[in-house]
Amino acid sequence: MGKPTGFLEYERKEAKAVSPKERIKNFNEFHTPLSEAEQRCQSARCMDCGVPFCQSGMNIKGMTSGCPLNNLIPEWNDLVYTGNWEQAYNRLHKTSNFPEFTSRVCPALCEKACTCGLNGDAVCTKENEMAIIEHAYANGWAGPKPPKVRTGKRIAVVGSGPAGLAVADQLNTRGHNVTVFERADRIGGLLRYGIPNMKLEKHIIDRKLEVMKAEGIEFVTEANVGEKIKAKKLVDEYDAVVLACGASNPRDINAPGRDANGIYFAVDFLKATTKSLLDSDLSDGKFISAKDKNVIVIGGGDTGNDCVGTCIRHGCKSVTQLEMMPKAPDTRRESNPWPQWPLVCKTDYGQEEAIAVFGHDPRIYTTTVKEFKKDKKGNLEKVVVISLESKVDEKTGRRMMVPVEGTEKELPCELVLIAAGFLGTQKYVTDAFGVELTERTNIKTEEGKFATNAAGVFTAGDCHTGQSLVVKAIRQGRDCAREVDKYLMGYTNL
Ligand SMILES: Cc1cc2nc3c(=O)[nH]c(=O)nc-3n(C[C@H](O)[C@H](O)[C@H](O)COP(=O)(O)OP(=O)(O)OC[C@H]3O[C@@H](n4cnc5c(N)ncnc54)[C@H](O)[C@@H]3O)c2cc1C
Ligand code: SF4
Repeated sequence: MGKPTGFLEYERKEAKAVSPKERIKNFNEFHTPLSEAEQRCQSARCMDCGVPFCQSGMNIKGMTSGCPLNNLIPEWNDLVYTGNWEQAYNRLHKTSNFPEFTSRVCPALCEKACTCGLNGDAVCTKENEMAIIEHAYANGWAGPKPPKVRTGKRIAVVGSGPAGLAVADQLNTRGHNVTVFERADRIGGLLRYGIPNMKLEKHIIDRKLEVMKAEGIEFVTEANVGEKIKAKKLVDEYDAVVLACGASNPRDINAPGRDANGIYFAVDFLKATTKSLLDSDLSDGKFISAKDKNVIVIGGGDTGNDCVGTCIRHGCKSVTQLEMMPKAPDTRRESNPWPQWPLVCKTDYGQEEAIAVFGHDPRIYTTTVKEFKKDKKGNLEKVVVISLESKVDEKTGRRMMVPVEGTEKELPCELVLIAAGFLGTQKYVTDAFGVELTERTNIKTEEGKFATNAAGVFTAGDCHTGQSLVVKAIRQGRDCAREVDKYLMGYTNL
């Protein structure tokens, strides 16, 4: 274990964040990593518990507790403490294909289940993970390791998000020939065109892609499977196909005036900004600008928060985030004890920035949109919002949030961003392969399996589970790769 008395001697210390008013001047990541000595002290805080919940990834009350990848956290914490960085990287790489992504964007389910967090502050596991992978790149340990033997089997992966990349990485390691087909102009799925640069700078993706290419994976961009590339061609020409095409159908808001100019889905807004940043550092003007606009973000979740942070960087006049549900408590309820995922109110980076710039939290709870109002030219000028209350539906017996008549308010607004969740995968792809869907329009498989009803066609990631997390998409990709390998070879050692 790290240092037996480490958790008593050292306080939790996190990477310092640049102040909100300073960091909104650009779209860069804004944390300064701890020094090597400080990071080793943080690893020394790990108690190497008899039952390390941090690495369990179990499901408690429908929520995941601990790392879904079962990262061997106490082991690598000890190795970091003793300065054995290369071994720490080898342990981390055993269970995780992309620690450079998760150590930046993961909500750190491990830390919420850390035993140190029961009575004090959890170990900085996510930052330790970042320190290990960045050491590995700096020292050349994370470079290409192409397989020594090729099996001659060919696999097509549709979609290059974390699930598709994990499938590709695993199957290529096993010696299969993998081609990844991506509809967008760049590889990465929502890592590239969803999660903003502030959380994940895009050169981090490119660095890993260079390694994967050198290891033999082929990437084809602007390859819309089901339209430009026929599904039959992939099924005929490859030994297996994996659909990892995400859950990109956005949930809409069906209120009067929805056709007004100035209403966009969150991912379209975020993608346009990132693409313009990558293409021209925003100088091409090909993005949806929030500059000098009153913005309303519909949806109080993480995607909504990313929109808030992005709007502030554009120079918006004001930003309001509508959330249908009541504010969560600031600390755990008794009914939500450790090591369950804590159902508490989190103030994320975008909201912190809104507080710094506008002097108040952008979130308004138990509120939704009743109507969008437009001017004579069809441009959005106001949004009518209404308060909600929780009531039991007499017919179904289910608790629902219902509007409270008479609580309407008009807010000036020239830009609305809808971040109200996602409704499964896009039908043209699933129809093209003839795969069955669940009621939630996710691709159907047997419980815990990845083979669809179509012979040789497998699935992984958000298109299989619904919109989730990067770490869970990677886990799906790894598990799916194992099933594909067994299908092709009769056994698997992945
Ligand atoms: C704005 C936003 C912010 C988020 N922030 C976080 C975060 O901070 N932390 C976190 O853990 N999770 C976050 N998530 C969730 C996370 O990004 C997803 O759960 C994860 O990316 C899913 O991975 P995936 O590989 O299944 O799908 P995706 O990442 O959605 O990738 C699917 C890919 O398939 C491609 N594709 C689709 N159809 C076709 C086709 N027909 N032909 C070829 N290619 C196709 C798409 O273009 C896309 O590139 C966020 C999501 C959003 C929307
Ligand atoms: S992937 Fe996420 S949950 Fe797992 S160790 Fe890293 S930060 Fe923790």
